[in-house]
Amino acid sequence: TAQKQSGNHYEFYASGMTVGSLNQFLLEANLRHALERSEFQVYYQPKVSLVTGEIVGAEALIRWFSSSQGFVSPVEFIPLAEETGLIVPLDEWVMTTVCTQAKQWQLADLPPLQVAVNLSGLQFHQTDLTERVTQILQRTELEPQYLELELTESVIMQNTDATIKKLDQLKTLGIQIAIDDFGTGYSSLSYLKQFSFDTLKIDRCFVQNISCDSKNAAITTAMIQMAHDLDLKVIAEGVETNSELAFLQQQACDEMQGYFFSRPVPAPEFEQLLVTGKRLAD
Ligand code: C2E
Ligand code: MG
Ligand code: MG
Ligand code: MG
Repeated sequence: TAQKQSGNHYEFYASGMTVGSLNQFLLEANLRHALERSEFQVYYQPKVSLVTGEIVGAEALIRWFSSSQGFVSPVEFIPLAEETGLIVPLDEWVMTTVCTQAKQWQLADLPPLQVAVNLSGLQFHQTDLTERVTQILQRTELEPQYLELELTESVIMQNTDATIKKLDQLKTLGIQIAIDDFGTGYSSLSYLKQFSFDTLKIDRCFVQNISCDSKNAAITTAMIQMAHDLDLKVIAEGVETNSELAFLQQQACDEMQGYFFSRPVPAPEFEQLLVTGKRLAD
């Protein structure tokens, strides 16, 4: 009946099936099959030494080319993968792919490279994470010192005691730990002395326009100084211009990453950068 129809109609909207949420629904449904359909790829963005100008590492960044929805940004699907738990097999796939790739580059006699993988909170807090990482390193035969895990402050701040233990276990494996998006997640710095990690990555928002934005300049300078005083390596993310680069070099930042040098690229293109020995111009 008309009444029932209008009732259904009401329900339809009440359940929140707007165009936006329909899109979310499809995204989630497609995400569930994306791994088995091989729709993911790992892209690599160079990390460049500000001392030698050479590529010293790579950050692995996942890309999803969905057969039905086209390219979907990780900013869109990573949160969804976290909500649904799909992030666990996904991050494991990324880590395996990246370790396999790094080993292949070593066997091809390319310069030694540290590869970094982003870990979601859900993955980090898996009770058997250390065993999983150990297994992946064994299977791929990559020496642990070439693997770095990038964790955000918010991930580390959950569950402090268990986190200290887990970071210690991971460090015992011989891998490196980086704090990603430093300065954006948590307001207390006290965690810096509680946890064992190796690298601090200054978030892009502080690096933008450092050469003319005096506040960003002050914050970035202080972060670099503090990192060095704590014996941490410091990397600036999101470097897009020559003047940002010059400022970072002046402040003795260790490494940079950003579009100025290279966007994230597929493995064969990254390999080309290594083969041709692309470096920062002095
Ligand atoms: P993130 O780990 O902080 O990665 C840096 C992001 O900045 C990447 O975005 C990268 O493409 C972008 N970027 C690099 N240089 C520049 C630059 O010069 N300018 C600008 N505007 N952007 C730059 P992307 O690839 O879209 O990834 C976004 C976030 O998604 C990552 O932030 C990370 O948190 C997450 N993510 C990406 N791949 C993975 C993954 O395999 N696993 C997990 N758990 N998270 C991932
Ligand atoms: Mg990262
Ligand atoms: Mg970051
Ligand atoms: Mg980020």
